[in-house]
Amino acid sequence: MSETNLNPEEPKKSLNFIEVAVENDLKEGKNDSRVQTRFPPEPNGYLHIGHAKAICIDFGIAQKYGGVCNLRFDDTNPVKEEVEYVDSIMEDIQWLGYDWANVYYASDYFPQLWDFAVQLIKEGKAYIDEQSAEEIAKQKGTPTEPGTNSPYRNRPIEESLDLFNKMNEGVFEEGSMVLRAKIDMAAANMHFRDPIIYRIIKRPHHRTGSTWQAYPMYDFAHGQCDYFEGVTHSLCTLEFVPHRPLYDWFIDQLATSDYRPHQYEFNKLQFTYTLLSKRNLRAMVEEGILDGWDDPRMPTISGFRRRGYTPESIHILMDKIGYTKYDGVNDIGLFEYSIREDLNKKATRVSAVLNPVKLVITNYPEGKTEIMPAQNNPEDENAGSHEILFSRELYIERDDFMEDAPKKYFRLTPGNEVRLKNAYIVKCTGCKKDEAGNVIEVYAEYDEMTKSGMPDSGRKVKGTIHWVSEEGCFDAEVRLYDRLFMVENPADDERDFRELLNPDSLKVLKGCKMESYLNDAKEGDKFQFQRTGYFCVDKDSTPENMVFNRTVSLKDSWAKAKDR
Ligand code: ATP
Ligand code: MG
Repeated sequence: MSETNLNPEEPKKSLNFIEVAVENDLKEGKNDSRVQTRFPPEPNGYLHIGHAKAICIDFGIAQKYGGVCNLRFDDTNPVKEEVEYVDSIMEDIQWLGYDWANVYYASDYFPQLWDFAVQLIKEGKAYIDEQSAEEIAKQKGTPTEPGTNSPYRNRPIEESLDLFNKMNEGVFEEGSMVLRAKIDMAAANMHFRDPIIYRIIKRPHHRTGSTWQAYPMYDFAHGQCDYFEGVTHSLCTLEFVPHRPLYDWFIDQLATSDYRPHQYEFNKLQFTYTLLSKRNLRAMVEEGILDGWDDPRMPTISGFRRRGYTPESIHILMDKIGYTKYDGVNDIGLFEYSIREDLNKKATRVSAVLNPVKLVITNYPEGKTEIMPAQNNPEDENAGSHEILFSRELYIERDDFMEDAPKKYFRLTPGNEVRLKNAYIVKCTGCKKDEAGNVIEVYAEYDEMTKSGMPDSGRKVKGTIHWVSEEGCFDAEVRLYDRLFMVENPADDERDFRELLNPDSLKVLKGCKMESYLNDAKEGDKFQFQRTGYFCVDKDSTPENMVFNRTVSLKDSWAKAKDR
């Protein structure tokens, strides 16, 4: 790989700590040697690249150890959830190459969760608290000071049962009471200080309608759903470490055999120059800052897909970054490296001139055209070739010509020779300018003997530039994307994220010149525009106006030389 200056270590082939745990459990014959995982998204937004990390380990572990992975929608909060999100989540998982054994919804378990809550009340392990959220929070204590018992903590069981039923019947207002587990207000782990397990929400649910008005909290639903389904390895991110004892506590109250799901926590994916939080991403969509959840600048899976990223590039990335127990920030450059690595092997090389100026080959016969073969991919000898047209009038990139060039400029400048990729060596003879001094045409003479197959075809010159023939080419729109955020760690920045946005994250170029081969390209098709970058056809394309997204640039040796 010569296209990148990043040089990440080779992916480690050793097992990650989750695989080690699974292999130990299998060795010990735990849970009848079953391996069952789940991916548990909350359907309150589109999946982002962080979720892809979770998907790859949840489905990957099941795949590797002959187990089962289910998709479970964590739809315990009716306020934020929508069917659109459910559909997009399914599409994204399948695009990553995975399939679930079953689709479940946490809401499917509302009856069992209700029964379990009733069981806890009857056992004296839960009570209805009529205090406000603020009062309850005030009594929580701090990590070093114990909390204070609620005045409702020892109310009669019958009273709690009656109120719990009424909570669900809609008798009471939202926020007027909650069901709390009665554990220990002095526990060192704050999550044990009588956690709230049910609250009132008077909003129809996308699946259960208005059947329920009392809804379980995440901590009361997640572990139990794992248990009801038979999950063995419940994988989540590190912020759930302090929740794990409570997860285990609820399951201990529920379990009737030795079977136990076990929670394991790994580090979240966080990228430089990127915000991964559905709340912020939703704001960007709703405020019209971006063009929907699949805007190619979005760090969503659908955004990266539209941008031209492949599922393979995501797997390459996940292999490189691995799964650990320590949070950290990954360089977004690593993802760019991964997509280059994949597309380098796959993408057909074509010519596209993004910022065109005309090049006239003055000694080439007027009206003559030639067909030249262009290799599709030098990295893949089976990729074949396609035909390109050569003619007297061509387009080249504006910055491939300079009238007064510095010494190390190996492109077109009067008196200098370059090779036109797949065609002849030409020598620059000058240019024509408009009244304002802008170059409007560049002139050169070609050397007939330097075409492939001709005697001087092997003659070396220092520069090779790309071009398209005026005849047969067509105009298209090209969208160049840059980082959405100007700061390296927007997640840690105290300013509002709107102040951190890069105003130049999208540049639209019109009138770019495309070789005719691209005429047949379809939405999602991926190409290497030679010397420029990897591009794909955007969904906004029409037959009259094709639109190409820049997935990622190639490293430009001239830009690097200039920087030195
Ligand atoms: P966000 O805070 O971005 O909205 P979330 O954690 O609330 O994300 P969920 O739908 O609840 O989103 O997450 C589904 C699964 O994806 C969980 O197991 C969660 O731990 C995991 N996950 C979420 N964000 C990341 C991330 N950045 N890296 C790895 N896994 C993640
Ligand atoms: Mg969440």
